[in-house]
Amino acid sequence: MATIIEGKNLAKKIREELKVECDQLKKQGIYPKLAVIMVGDNPASKVYVKNKSKACNQIGITYEEYFLEETITQQKLNDLIERLNHTKEVNGILLQSPLPSHLDINQAFKAISYRKDVDGFTPSSVGKLVMGGDTFISCTPYGVIKMFEEYKIDLTGKNVVIIGRSNIVGKPLAQCCLAKNATVTICHSRTKDLQEHTKRADILIAAIGKANFVTGHMVKEGAVVIDVGINRSQEGKIVGDVDFESVEKIASYITPVPGGVGPMTIAMLMNNVIKAAKEQNNKNSTF
Ligand code: NAD
Repeated sequence: MATIIEGKNLAKKIREELKVECDQLKKQGIYPKLAVIMVGDNPASKVYVKNKSKACNQIGITYEEYFLEETITQQKLNDLIERLNHTKEVNGILLQSPLPSHLDINQAFKAISYRKDVDGFTPSSVGKLVMGGDTFISCTPYGVIKMFEEYKIDLTGKNVVIIGRSNIVGKPLAQCCLAKNATVTICHSRTKDLQEHTKRADILIAAIGKANFVTGHMVKEGAVVIDVGINRSQEGKIVGDVDFESVEKIASYITPVPGGVGPMTIAMLMNNVIKAAKEQNNKNSTF
């Protein structure tokens, strides 16, 4: 039976450490603040945004929400971002995805100052990640890397196979694993013979968005399996991309859903807001 990687507990520990750091910053007159922009009325986004606001409150980060009409123009959205870029009190800007289809999310991300890009989605942040510079690492990949560190899972020379090539999970996670000296394969919807790849994985990461997609017969004996997926089953339960029941019998480590990667994503967002506040108030910052 696999060891369960308890993302929820690790996230709690990280948030407690961040609270101490946040209290210290406040004693120096620095009040970390996150601005969240949400466009339209997406129910799933509302849940994500609520969880972020709760985490901010726990740590003592000031949280500000901007709800924009579904019909807002790109220009007006970019104008708001530009205004927040220049608002000194705002340390981090988060644009909640998805956006309505008439808006170009990449254009909006491009408008966010990289110094306030706590989600790590701007071209500057992504470029720095690829080149190995100090940057904001996007929160889900960062959370997965923290789990490896906590459980002393060394990636050096390991075959890491990531299923999913999205800009927010698969691609940045591949860079993070490369930086940890892994040999990385990214699989996606056009990959031929997926199982041939997954069976070779010492570390298998699923970021697909399909409930229980990865089953036991796709996994090598003793592999570490990380489940990024968040899906709703037919019974309305939250389930991952990994069929936990069959995979836990084969894997050496496995993350549960819920309680695995999800809480880590929020913890690392909080980490990035604190980092932003510190960098923006450090006269010697080279960030
Ligand atoms: P996405 O839809 O942008 O990307 C999905 C990827 O899966 C694509 O690259 C696609 O090529 C690949 N894919 C789809 N079908 C496939 C198949 N049959 N075989 C192989 N590859 C296939 O999704 P995303 O934004 O990367 O999110 C992926 C999942 O992770 C979703 O369930 C999402 O809700 C979840 N997610 C969780 C967190 C978290 O904090 N835990 C954060 C972000 C996303």
